Amino acid sequence: VTTFAGRNVALFGLGGSGLATARALVAGGAHVTAWDDNPDSVAKANAEGIATGDLHGINWAEQSALVLSPGVPLTHPKPHWTVDLAHGAGVEVIGDVELFVRERRAHAPDCPFIAITGTNGKSTTTALIAHILKSSGRDTQLGGNIGTAILTLDPPKADRFYVVECSSYQIDLAPTINPTAGILLNLTPDHLDRHGTMQHYADVKERLVAGAQTAVIGVDDSYCTVIADRVERAGVSVKRISRRGVLPTGLYAEGTRILQADGGNTELLADLAGIDTLKGSHNAQNAAAAIGACLAVGVSIEEIRAGLKSFPGLKHRMQPVARIGNVTFVNDSKATNADAAAPALSSYDRIYWIAGGLPKAGGIVSLAPLFPRILKTYLIGEAAPEFAATLGEAVPYEISGTLDRAVAHAAADALTDGGVSAVMLSPACASFDQFKNFEVRGDAFVALVGNLDGVTMLIE
Ligand code: ADP
Repeated sequence: VTTFAGRNVALFGLGGSGLATARALVAGGAHVTAWDDNPDSVAKANAEGIATGDLHGINWAEQSALVLSPGVPLTHPKPHWTVDLAHGAGVEVIGDVELFVRERRAHAPDCPFIAITGTNGKSTTTALIAHILKSSGRDTQLGGNIGTAILTLDPPKADRFYVVECSSYQIDLAPTINPTAGILLNLTPDHLDRHGTMQHYADVKERLVAGAQTAVIGVDDSYCTVIADRVERAGVSVKRISRRGVLPTGLYAEGTRILQADGGNTELLADLAGIDTLKGSHNAQNAAAAIGACLAVGVSIEEIRAGLKSFPGLKHRMQPVARIGNVTFVNDSKATNADAAAPALSSYDRIYWIAGGLPKAGGIVSLAPLFPRILKTYLIGEAAPEFAATLGEAVPYEISGTLDRAVAHAAADALTDGGVSAVMLSPACASFDQFKNFEVRGDAFVALVGNLDGVTMLIE
Protein backbone atom coordinates (compact mmCIF):
# COMPACT_ATOMS: atom_id res chain seq x y z
CA VAL A 1 0.00 0.00 0.00
CA THR A 2 1.44 3.29 -1.11
CA THR A 3 -0.58 5.87 0.83
CA PHE A 4 2.13 6.13 3.50
CA ALA A 5 5.13 6.11 1.14
CA GLY A 6 8.03 7.99 2.68
CA ARG A 7 6.23 8.51 5.98
CA ASN A 8 6.65 7.02 9.46
CA VAL A 9 4.11 4.52 10.69
CA ALA A 10 3.96 2.80 14.09
CA LEU A 11 2.38 -0.63 14.03
CA PHE A 12 1.27 -2.71 17.01
CA GLY A 13 0.41 -6.39 16.73
CA LEU A 14 2.42 -8.79 14.57
CA GLY A 15 0.05 -11.74 14.34
CA GLY A 16 -1.08 -13.00 10.94
CA SER A 17 -2.85 -9.86 9.69
CA GLY A 18 -0.45 -7.51 11.52
CA LEU A 19 2.57 -9.04 9.82
CA ALA A 20 0.83 -8.90 6.43
CA THR A 21 0.05 -5.23 7.07
CA ALA A 22 3.65 -4.46 8.03
CA ARG A 23 4.86 -6.17 4.85
CA ALA A 24 2.42 -4.22 2.67
CA LEU A 25 3.40 -0.89 4.26
CA VAL A 26 7.13 -1.58 3.89
CA ALA A 27 6.65 -2.72 0.27
CA GLY A 28 4.84 0.57 -0.38
CA GLY A 29 7.72 2.64 0.94
CA ALA A 30 6.54 3.47 4.47
CA HIS A 31 9.05 3.65 7.35
CA VAL A 32 7.51 1.17 9.76
CA THR A 33 8.35 0.65 13.42
CA ALA A 34 6.51 -2.48 14.53
CA TRP A 35 6.04 -4.07 17.92
CA ASP A 36 4.34 -7.00 19.58
CA ASP A 37 4.52 -8.22 23.17
CA ASN A 38 5.33 -11.70 21.87
CA PRO A 39 9.11 -11.95 21.25
CA ASP A 40 8.59 -14.72 18.67
CA SER A 41 6.47 -12.42 16.51
CA VAL A 42 9.07 -9.67 16.80
CA ALA A 43 11.83 -12.09 15.78
CA LYS A 44 9.79 -13.24 12.79
CA ALA A 45 9.28 -9.65 11.61
CA ASN A 46 12.96 -8.87 12.11
CA ALA A 47 13.94 -11.89 10.05
CA GLU A 48 11.97 -10.37 7.16
CA GLY A 49 13.71 -7.01 7.51
CA ILE A 50 10.77 -5.25 9.18
CA ALA A 51 12.13 -2.73 11.70
CA THR A 52 10.90 -3.32 15.22
CA GLY A 53 11.21 -1.25 18.36
CA ASP A 54 9.49 -0.52 21.63
CA LEU A 55 6.79 1.99 20.77
CA HIS A 56 7.25 3.73 24.14
CA GLY A 57 10.58 4.97 22.89
CA ILE A 58 9.74 6.44 19.47
CA ASN A 59 9.09 10.10 18.67
CA TRP A 60 5.30 10.11 18.30
CA ALA A 61 5.25 13.62 16.84
CA GLU A 62 7.00 12.20 13.76
CA GLN A 63 4.51 9.36 13.16
CA SER A 64 1.82 9.66 10.49
CA ALA A 65 -0.34 6.87 11.88
CA LEU A 66 -0.64 4.10 14.43
CA VAL A 67 -1.78 0.91 12.71
CA LEU A 68 -3.40 -1.58 15.09
CA SER A 69 -4.22 -5.24 14.64
CA PRO A 70 -7.88 -6.07 15.24
CA GLY A 71 -8.19 -7.32 18.80
CA VAL A 72 -6.02 -4.64 20.37
CA PRO A 73 -8.43 -2.64 22.58
CA LEU A 74 -9.29 0.75 21.13
CA THR A 75 -11.79 1.95 23.68
CA HIS A 76 -12.93 -0.69 26.13
CA PRO A 77 -12.35 -1.23 29.01
CA LYS A 78 -9.55 1.22 28.37
CA PRO A 79 -7.50 2.01 25.29
CA HIS A 80 -4.28 0.18 24.65
CA TRP A 81 -1.28 2.22 25.77
CA THR A 82 -0.20 2.79 22.17
CA VAL A 83 -3.59 4.38 21.48
CA ASP A 84 -3.08 6.77 24.40
CA LEU A 85 0.37 7.71 23.09
CA ALA A 86 -0.95 8.23 19.54
CA HIS A 87 -3.93 10.31 20.68
CA GLY A 88 -1.65 12.39 22.92
CA ALA A 89 0.44 13.29 19.86
CA GLY A 90 -2.55 13.81 17.56
CA VAL A 91 -1.67 10.74 15.46
CA GLU A 92 -4.52 8.88 13.74
CA VAL A 93 -5.25 5.27 14.71
CA ILE A 94 -6.29 2.91 11.91
CA GLY A 95 -6.34 -0.74 10.84
CA ASP A 96 -5.70 -2.81 7.75
CA VAL A 97 -9.19 -2.31 6.28
CA GLU A 98 -8.60 1.46 6.29
CA LEU A 99 -5.30 0.97 4.46
CA PHE A 100 -7.14 -1.04 1.82
CA VAL A 101 -9.87 1.59 1.54
CA ARG A 102 -7.29 4.34 0.94
CA GLU A 103 -5.43 2.25 -1.59
CA ARG A 104 -8.65 1.62 -3.48
CA ARG A 105 -9.58 5.30 -3.34
CA ALA A 106 -6.17 6.30 -4.70
CA HIS A 107 -5.80 3.75 -7.49
CA ALA A 108 -9.17 2.18 -8.40
CA PRO A 109 -12.04 4.12 -6.81
CA ASP A 110 -14.64 2.34 -8.93
CA CYS A 111 -13.55 -1.19 -8.11
CA PRO A 112 -16.60 -2.97 -6.63
CA PHE A 113 -16.21 -3.39 -2.89
CA ILE A 114 -18.80 -5.26 -0.83
CA ALA A 115 -18.38 -5.07 2.96
CA ILE A 116 -20.39 -7.22 5.34
CA THR A 117 -21.09 -6.82 9.04
CA GLY A 118 -23.70 -7.75 11.64
CA THR A 119 -23.87 -9.85 14.79
CA ASN A 120 -24.67 -13.18 13.09
CA GLY A 121 -24.34 -14.60 9.60
CA LYS A 122 -21.37 -12.52 8.47
CA SER A 123 -19.19 -15.40 7.27
CA THR A 124 -22.04 -17.22 5.54
CA THR A 125 -23.13 -14.09 3.68
CA THR A 126 -19.56 -13.17 2.78
CA ALA A 127 -18.80 -16.65 1.45
CA LEU A 128 -22.10 -16.78 -0.44
CA ILE A 129 -21.49 -13.44 -2.19
CA ALA A 130 -17.94 -14.44 -3.12
CA HIS A 131 -19.25 -17.75 -4.47
CA ILE A 132 -21.92 -16.02 -6.61
CA LEU A 133 -19.33 -13.60 -8.04
CA LYS A 134 -16.73 -16.30 -8.67
CA SER A 135 -19.14 -18.69 -10.31
CA SER A 136 -20.27 -15.90 -12.62
CA GLY A 137 -16.67 -15.62 -13.79
CA ARG A 138 -15.75 -12.36 -12.04
CA ASP A 139 -12.30 -11.69 -10.57
CA THR A 140 -13.18 -12.06 -6.88
CA GLN A 141 -11.13 -11.36 -3.76
CA LEU A 142 -12.45 -12.70 -0.44
CA GLY A 143 -11.01 -11.59 2.87
CA GLY A 144 -11.15 -9.65 6.10
CA ASN A 145 -12.49 -11.13 9.30
CA ILE A 146 -13.38 -14.40 7.52
CA GLY A 147 -9.71 -15.39 7.52
CA THR A 148 -7.56 -13.99 4.74
CA ALA A 149 -5.87 -10.71 5.75
CA ILE A 150 -7.14 -8.01 3.42
CA LEU A 151 -3.68 -6.74 2.50
CA THR A 152 -2.62 -10.16 1.22
CA LEU A 153 -5.29 -9.98 -1.52
CA ASP A 154 -4.47 -8.87 -5.07
CA PRO A 155 -4.35 -5.06 -5.39
CA PRO A 156 -7.46 -3.07 -6.37
CA LYS A 157 -8.24 -2.56 -10.06
CA ALA A 158 -11.38 -1.50 -11.88
CA ASP A 159 -12.92 -4.90 -12.68
CA ARG A 160 -11.86 -6.73 -9.51
CA PHE A 161 -14.54 -7.49 -6.89
CA TYR A 162 -13.73 -7.37 -3.16
CA VAL A 163 -15.90 -9.17 -0.64
CA VAL A 164 -14.78 -8.27 2.86
CA GLU A 165 -16.18 -9.43 6.18
CA CYS A 166 -15.76 -6.71 8.81
CA SER A 167 -15.93 -7.18 12.57
CA SER A 168 -16.90 -4.14 14.61
CA TYR A 169 -13.23 -3.89 15.64
CA GLN A 170 -12.22 -3.52 12.01
CA ILE A 171 -14.91 -0.90 11.31
CA ASP A 172 -13.79 1.00 14.40
CA LEU A 173 -10.33 1.22 12.82
CA ALA A 174 -11.61 2.16 9.32
CA PRO A 175 -12.86 5.75 9.68
CA THR A 176 -13.37 6.37 5.94
CA ILE A 177 -14.80 3.00 4.88
CA ASN A 178 -16.90 3.53 1.72
CA PRO A 179 -18.06 0.25 0.21
CA THR A 180 -19.97 0.10 -3.07
CA ALA A 181 -22.45 -2.09 -1.19
CA GLY A 182 -22.39 -2.24 2.62
CA ILE A 183 -24.38 -4.95 4.39
CA LEU A 184 -25.60 -4.76 7.98
CA LEU A 185 -27.37 -8.06 8.64
CA ASN A 186 -28.63 -7.73 12.21
CA LEU A 187 -27.67 -6.37 15.62
CA THR A 188 -28.14 -8.25 18.86
CA PRO A 189 -26.24 -7.88 22.12
CA ASP A 190 -22.91 -9.64 21.65
CA HIS A 191 -19.23 -8.79 21.84
CA LEU A 192 -19.97 -6.05 24.31
CA ASP A 193 -16.68 -6.84 26.02
CA ARG A 194 -14.80 -4.36 23.90
CA HIS A 195 -17.47 -1.89 22.91
CA GLY A 196 -18.96 -1.37 26.31
CA THR A 197 -22.54 -0.56 25.45
CA MET A 198 -24.95 -1.84 22.84
CA GLN A 199 -25.39 1.71 21.58
CA HIS A 200 -21.68 2.16 20.95
CA TYR A 201 -21.55 -1.26 19.23
CA ALA A 202 -24.50 -0.24 17.01
CA ASP A 203 -22.90 3.16 16.26
CA VAL A 204 -19.70 1.48 15.08
CA LYS A 205 -21.57 -0.94 12.82
CA GLU A 206 -23.69 1.91 11.41
CA ARG A 207 -20.56 3.57 10.01
CA LEU A 208 -20.12 0.73 7.50
CA VAL A 209 -23.53 1.36 5.91
CA ALA A 210 -23.47 5.14 6.40
CA GLY A 211 -20.38 5.29 4.16
CA ALA A 212 -21.80 2.96 1.50
CA GLN A 213 -23.13 3.81 -1.94
CA THR A 214 -25.88 1.21 -1.46
CA ALA A 215 -26.72 0.01 2.07
CA VAL A 216 -28.33 -3.41 2.49
CA ILE A 217 -29.83 -3.55 5.97
CA GLY A 218 -31.79 -6.25 7.80
CA VAL A 219 -34.77 -4.61 9.46
CA ASP A 220 -35.89 -7.44 11.75
CA ASP A 221 -34.43 -5.81 14.86
CA SER A 222 -35.01 -2.37 16.29
CA TYR A 223 -31.41 -1.11 16.13
CA CYS A 224 -31.09 -1.86 12.43
CA THR A 225 -34.52 -0.42 11.65
CA VAL A 226 -33.48 2.91 13.15
CA ILE A 227 -30.15 2.80 11.33
CA ALA A 228 -31.83 2.11 7.96
CA ASP A 229 -34.08 5.16 8.37
CA ARG A 230 -31.22 7.39 9.46
CA VAL A 231 -28.74 6.53 6.69
CA GLU A 232 -31.53 6.80 4.12
CA ARG A 233 -32.35 10.33 5.35
CA ALA A 234 -28.65 11.11 4.99
CA GLY A 235 -28.85 10.26 1.28
CA VAL A 236 -27.63 6.66 1.08
CA SER A 237 -29.58 4.33 -1.21
CA VAL A 238 -31.04 1.73 1.18
CA LYS A 239 -32.29 -1.78 0.40
CA ARG A 240 -34.17 -3.17 3.38
CA ILE A 241 -34.28 -6.94 3.90
CA SER A 242 -36.43 -9.08 6.17
CA ARG A 243 -36.66 -12.75 7.01
CA ARG A 244 -39.94 -12.17 8.86
CA GLY A 245 -42.51 -10.18 7.02
CA VAL A 246 -43.64 -8.47 3.88
CA LEU A 247 -41.92 -5.15 3.20
CA PRO A 248 -43.48 -2.35 1.14
CA THR A 249 -40.10 -1.88 -0.54
CA GLY A 250 -37.12 -4.17 -0.19
CA LEU A 251 -36.24 -7.85 -0.23
CA TYR A 252 -38.02 -10.26 2.07
CA ALA A 253 -38.39 -13.98 2.65
CA GLU A 254 -41.65 -15.88 2.54
CA GLY A 255 -40.64 -19.37 3.56
CA THR A 256 -37.92 -20.34 1.12
CA ARG A 257 -38.91 -17.68 -1.44
CA ILE A 258 -37.06 -14.37 -1.66
CA LEU A 259 -39.25 -11.60 -3.04
CA GLN A 260 -38.58 -8.03 -4.00
CA ALA A 261 -41.24 -5.41 -3.46
CA ASP A 262 -41.05 -2.02 -5.08
CA GLY A 263 -43.97 0.36 -4.75
CA GLY A 264 -46.76 -2.12 -5.40
CA ASN A 265 -44.87 -4.48 -7.71
CA THR A 266 -43.67 -7.78 -6.28
CA GLU A 267 -41.16 -9.99 -8.02
CA LEU A 268 -39.90 -13.47 -7.12
CA LEU A 269 -36.10 -13.24 -7.09
CA ALA A 270 -35.13 -16.74 -5.98
CA ASP A 271 -36.37 -19.87 -4.26
CA LEU A 272 -34.06 -21.57 -1.75
CA ALA A 273 -36.14 -24.78 -1.62
CA GLY A 274 -33.86 -27.75 -2.14
CA ILE A 275 -30.66 -25.81 -1.42
CA ASP A 276 -29.45 -27.72 1.67
CA THR A 277 -26.65 -25.29 2.43
CA LEU A 278 -29.13 -22.42 2.78
CA LYS A 279 -31.76 -24.04 4.98
CA GLY A 280 -33.52 -22.09 7.70
CA SER A 281 -34.92 -18.59 8.03
CA HIS A 282 -31.57 -17.22 9.24
CA ASN A 283 -30.11 -18.27 5.89
CA ALA A 284 -33.03 -16.63 4.09
CA GLN A 285 -31.82 -13.40 5.70
CA ASN A 286 -28.24 -14.10 4.59
CA ALA A 287 -29.37 -14.99 1.05
CA ALA A 288 -31.60 -11.92 0.74
CA ALA A 289 -28.67 -9.72 1.77
CA ALA A 290 -26.36 -11.45 -0.69
CA ILE A 291 -28.89 -11.05 -3.50
CA GLY A 292 -29.39 -7.37 -2.68
CA ALA A 293 -25.66 -6.66 -2.67
CA CYS A 294 -24.98 -8.63 -5.86
CA LEU A 295 -27.76 -6.79 -7.70
CA ALA A 296 -26.27 -3.50 -6.46
CA VAL A 297 -22.91 -4.29 -8.07
CA GLY A 298 -24.42 -5.33 -11.40
CA VAL A 299 -24.73 -9.12 -11.18
CA SER A 300 -27.76 -10.43 -13.10
CA ILE A 301 -30.51 -12.33 -11.31
CA GLU A 302 -29.79 -15.40 -13.48
CA GLU A 303 -26.16 -15.39 -12.37
CA ILE A 304 -27.26 -14.96 -8.76
CA ARG A 305 -29.71 -17.89 -8.96
CA ALA A 306 -27.04 -20.15 -10.41
CA GLY A 307 -24.62 -19.18 -7.61
CA LEU A 308 -27.19 -19.78 -4.86
CA LYS A 309 -27.86 -23.30 -6.21
CA SER A 310 -24.23 -24.33 -6.20
CA PHE A 311 -23.22 -22.74 -2.86
CA PRO A 312 -21.14 -25.35 -1.01
CA GLY A 313 -21.77 -23.85 2.44
CA LEU A 314 -19.23 -23.09 5.12
CA LYS A 315 -17.27 -25.80 6.86
CA HIS A 316 -18.57 -26.79 10.30
CA ARG A 317 -21.66 -24.59 10.03
CA MET A 318 -24.77 -26.62 9.36
CA GLN A 319 -22.91 -28.25 6.51
CA PRO A 320 -24.49 -31.29 4.82
CA VAL A 321 -21.44 -33.52 4.43
CA ALA A 322 -22.75 -36.93 3.39
CA ARG A 323 -25.80 -38.98 2.60
CA ILE A 324 -26.86 -42.61 2.97
CA GLY A 325 -30.30 -43.23 1.46
CA ASN A 326 -32.72 -40.86 3.18
CA VAL A 327 -30.25 -39.86 5.88
CA THR A 328 -28.25 -36.61 5.61
CA PHE A 329 -25.20 -36.16 7.85
CA VAL A 330 -24.77 -32.56 9.00
CA ASN A 331 -21.62 -31.03 10.49
CA ASP A 332 -22.52 -28.09 12.74
CA SER A 333 -19.45 -28.32 14.98
CA LYS A 334 -19.19 -24.52 15.09
CA ALA A 335 -22.25 -24.49 17.36
CA THR A 336 -20.38 -24.12 20.64
CA ASN A 337 -23.36 -22.95 22.70
CA ALA A 338 -27.13 -23.46 22.75
CA ASP A 339 -27.92 -20.26 20.80
CA ALA A 340 -25.60 -21.31 18.00
CA ALA A 341 -27.17 -24.79 17.86
CA ALA A 342 -30.71 -23.45 17.58
CA PRO A 343 -30.69 -22.61 13.83
CA ALA A 344 -29.51 -26.09 12.83
CA LEU A 345 -32.06 -27.80 15.07
CA SER A 346 -34.77 -25.51 13.66
CA SER A 347 -33.84 -26.33 10.08
CA TYR A 348 -34.43 -30.11 10.09
CA ASP A 349 -37.58 -31.97 11.12
CA ARG A 350 -36.39 -35.43 12.18
CA ILE A 351 -33.04 -35.27 13.91
CA TYR A 352 -30.65 -37.76 15.44
CA TRP A 353 -28.70 -35.27 17.50
CA ILE A 354 -25.10 -35.60 18.65
CA ALA A 355 -24.46 -33.09 21.44
CA GLY A 356 -22.10 -32.44 24.31
CA GLY A 357 -18.55 -31.49 25.08
CA LEU A 358 -17.58 -28.81 27.52
CA PRO A 359 -20.89 -27.19 28.55
CA LYS A 360 -21.56 -23.47 28.78
CA ALA A 361 -23.70 -21.79 31.46
CA GLY A 362 -27.36 -22.57 30.94
CA GLY A 363 -26.62 -25.78 29.01
CA ILE A 364 -29.37 -26.72 26.56
CA VAL A 365 -32.35 -25.54 28.60
CA SER A 366 -33.17 -22.83 26.03
CA LEU A 367 -33.44 -25.45 23.26
CA ALA A 368 -36.45 -27.19 24.87
CA PRO A 369 -38.93 -25.79 22.29
CA LEU A 370 -36.96 -27.63 19.60
CA PHE A 371 -36.91 -30.99 21.40
CA PRO A 372 -39.98 -32.29 19.50
CA ARG A 373 -37.83 -32.36 16.33
CA ILE A 374 -35.32 -34.70 17.94
CA LEU A 375 -35.84 -38.45 17.66
CA LYS A 376 -32.87 -39.34 19.87
CA THR A 377 -29.83 -37.65 21.37
CA TYR A 378 -26.31 -39.11 21.59
CA LEU A 379 -24.41 -37.40 24.39
CA ILE A 380 -20.64 -37.02 24.44
CA GLY A 381 -18.06 -35.39 26.68
CA GLU A 382 -18.33 -33.75 30.07
CA ALA A 383 -21.76 -32.27 29.44
CA ALA A 384 -23.43 -35.67 29.12
CA PRO A 385 -24.90 -35.98 32.67
CA GLU A 386 -26.13 -32.37 32.73
CA PHE A 387 -27.69 -32.59 29.26
CA ALA A 388 -29.26 -35.96 30.12
CA ALA A 389 -30.96 -34.32 33.09
CA THR A 390 -32.31 -31.53 30.87
CA LEU A 391 -33.59 -33.97 28.23
CA GLY A 392 -35.25 -36.05 30.98
CA GLU A 393 -38.39 -37.70 29.72
CA ALA A 394 -38.80 -35.27 26.82
CA VAL A 395 -36.30 -36.85 24.41
CA PRO A 396 -34.83 -40.36 24.28
CA TYR A 397 -31.08 -40.27 24.78
CA GLU A 398 -28.02 -42.41 25.32
CA ILE A 399 -24.71 -41.46 26.88
CA SER A 400 -22.38 -42.39 24.03
CA GLY A 401 -19.30 -40.85 25.64
CA THR A 402 -17.15 -40.52 22.55
CA LEU A 403 -17.86 -39.11 19.10
CA ASP A 404 -17.07 -42.38 17.31
CA ARG A 405 -19.65 -44.27 19.34
CA ALA A 406 -22.18 -41.47 18.90
CA VAL A 407 -21.77 -41.49 15.09
CA ALA A 408 -22.00 -45.28 14.86
CA HIS A 409 -25.13 -45.50 17.01
CA ALA A 410 -26.89 -42.48 15.48
CA ALA A 411 -26.23 -43.74 11.94
CA ALA A 412 -27.49 -47.23 12.80
CA ASP A 413 -30.69 -45.83 14.35
CA ALA A 414 -31.33 -43.44 11.45
CA LEU A 415 -30.83 -46.16 8.85
CA THR A 416 -33.06 -48.61 10.74
CA ASP A 417 -35.73 -45.91 10.88
CA GLY A 418 -35.48 -45.60 7.09
CA GLY A 419 -37.37 -42.28 6.86
CA VAL A 420 -35.95 -38.92 5.85
CA SER A 421 -33.80 -37.73 8.74
CA ALA A 422 -30.61 -35.91 9.69
CA VAL A 423 -27.74 -37.19 11.82
CA MET A 424 -26.40 -33.93 13.14
CA LEU A 425 -23.35 -32.92 15.14
CA SER A 426 -24.48 -29.63 16.72
CA PRO A 427 -22.83 -29.93 20.10
CA ALA A 428 -24.00 -26.76 21.93
CA CYS A 429 -20.67 -27.07 23.76
CA ALA A 430 -17.03 -26.15 23.48
CA SER A 431 -14.81 -28.97 22.28
CA PHE A 432 -11.77 -28.68 24.53
CA ASP A 433 -12.53 -31.66 26.76
CA GLN A 434 -12.06 -34.06 23.82
CA PHE A 435 -10.70 -32.06 20.86
CA LYS A 436 -8.22 -29.27 20.17
CA ASN A 437 -10.94 -27.01 18.75
CA PHE A 438 -14.29 -27.10 16.93
CA GLU A 439 -12.60 -27.54 13.55
CA VAL A 440 -10.82 -30.72 14.67
CA ARG A 441 -14.11 -31.98 16.17
CA GLY A 442 -15.93 -31.32 12.88
CA ASP A 443 -13.20 -32.97 10.83
CA ALA A 444 -13.37 -36.02 13.12
CA PHE A 445 -17.14 -36.21 12.52
CA VAL A 446 -16.66 -36.03 8.76
CA ALA A 447 -13.97 -38.73 8.85
CA LEU A 448 -16.17 -41.07 10.93
CA VAL A 449 -19.13 -40.50 8.61
CA GLY A 450 -16.90 -41.11 5.60
CA ASN A 451 -16.13 -44.61 6.89
CA LEU A 452 -19.77 -45.70 7.11
CA ASP A 453 -21.00 -48.37 4.68
CA GLY A 454 -22.69 -47.09 1.54
CA VAL A 455 -21.94 -43.45 2.18
CA THR A 456 -21.97 -40.77 -0.55
CA MET A 457 -19.90 -37.74 0.38
CA LEU A 458 -21.36 -34.33 -0.49
CA ILE A 459 -18.07 -32.51 0.07
CA GLU A 460 -14.52 -33.03 -1.17
P1 ADP B 1 -20.62 -14.96 11.90
O1 ADP B 1 -19.54 -14.93 10.86
O2 ADP B 1 -21.37 -13.65 12.01
O3 ADP B 1 -20.18 -15.50 13.23
P2 ADP B 1 -21.63 -17.33 10.53
O4 ADP B 1 -22.09 -17.08 9.16
O5 ADP B 1 -20.29 -17.94 10.75
O6 ADP B 1 -21.75 -15.98 11.39
O7 ADP B 1 -22.71 -18.22 11.24
C1 ADP B 1 -22.48 -18.69 12.56
C2 ADP B 1 -23.76 -19.27 13.12
O8 ADP B 1 -24.68 -18.21 13.37
C3 ADP B 1 -24.48 -20.22 12.19
O9 ADP B 1 -24.07 -21.53 12.36
C4 ADP B 1 -25.92 -20.04 12.60
O10 ADP B 1 -26.14 -20.83 13.75
C5 ADP B 1 -26.02 -18.60 13.04
N1 ADP B 1 -26.48 -17.68 11.99
C6 ADP B 1 -26.06 -17.59 10.68
N2 ADP B 1 -26.71 -16.61 10.03
C7 ADP B 1 -27.53 -16.04 10.92
C8 ADP B 1 -28.46 -14.95 10.84
N3 ADP B 1 -28.65 -14.26 9.71
N4 ADP B 1 -29.15 -14.64 11.97
C9 ADP B 1 -28.98 -15.32 13.11
N5 ADP B 1 -28.11 -16.36 13.25
C10 ADP B 1 -27.40 -16.72 12.17
